Amino acid sequence: MKKGTKLYSILKLKCPRCQIGNLFSNPGLFVFSRILKMPDKCPHCKQDFKLEPGFYTAALWISYPMVLIIFIPLIILGFSLDTINGFFKLLYPFIILFSFMLQIPLMRISRAILLNMTIDYTTEWRT
Ligand SMILES: [Zn+2]
Repeated sequence: MKKGTKLYSILKLKCPRCQIGNLFSNPGLFVFSRILKMPDKCPHCKQDFKLEPGFYTAALWISYPMVLIIFIPLIILGFSLDTINGFFKLLYPFIILFSFMLQIPLMRISRAILLNMTIDYTTEWRT
């Protein structure tokens, strides 16, 4: 993936300004501890990650449409498969489990998108 693009910062969960420092103390999309723990500043370029109080409340409004886009087709698929063969009912617990697991990367990606909407990539952050 190309460095310098917003997509790189969002999917790699890197600081939107320098794209070197990690956004989260525990890096990675699938983690099971310290899920939303972020440093106050970028460890590399010192970009402030806590722009204002309650800044990340807005991340809910980003994850909400993403959840709809992903889960509405899944639900429809689940119901239509069931009419074909009752066997697919056995898959429901796995789909539900998968949905819960997906919450973690979705929450993290929403925060990364929100920060990327506010902060642009630059190579001249050493000022
Ligand atoms: Zn940075």
